[in-house]
Amino acid sequence: MQLTNRKVVVSNKVQSFAERLYLPAIAKGMIITASHLFKKSPTINYPEEKRPIAPVYRGLHVLKLDENGAERCTSCGMCAVACPAEAITMTSGERKKGEENLYREEKYAATYEINMLRCIFCGLCEEACPKEAIFLTDRLVDVEFERNDFIYGKDKLVEKVNERIDVTPRQTPEVLEFKKIPGLKHNELFDPKKLNKGHH
Ligand code: SF4
Ligand code: SF4
Repeated sequence: MQLTNRKVVVSNKVQSFAERLYLPAIAKGMIITASHLFKKSPTINYPEEKRPIAPVYRGLHVLKLDENGAERCTSCGMCAVACPAEAITMTSGERKKGEENLYREEKYAATYEINMLRCIFCGLCEEACPKEAIFLTDRLVDVEFERNDFIYGKDKLVEKVNERIDVTPRQTPEVLEFKKIPGLKHNELFDPKKLNKGHH
């Protein structure tokens, strides 16, 4: 049975003395090696130099605050259910009177953790979130020496009021169009300008 149409013609030509010493093959190899000396090195001197990455790169998550600085997450658990790596855990708290400036909804995430060693940065948590609360960013997860240090809590995930993380590049026209689908009514209020008010 014939598997492919590929064939090689075998030459029975007697090799010259130089060919038997591999001289032409060595010379050919040296020419290839020397040609690389004049090419631009592909090496990036990280961390001084950073490779440009796509605006929609999926890196370290951020838990967003709303335009008033209150946490958007309502601890619904949708992100945890959607997560194929079971990397997200949380516990819920009930907002008390006077905490409206801290938490946008009556129910909020008292604790929220992502295990960065489990996470595969698929972005499904971002897609599942009905509150526009979690986004992946172009930031990288820090290098750590202890496994426990890769479990990121709210202290590392929630953005700081004065250091907003710009997620507008993730809202491409296609994404905004997608969010107009009636089944995604929860995203109707989305306004990138408002969401990122004061962002850089
Ligand atoms: S990016 Fe994917 S794997 Fe990581 S926490 Fe979100 S859903 Fe889970
Ligand atoms: S981040 Fe979004 S999906 Fe996850 S618990 Fe909070 S509101 Fe729900």
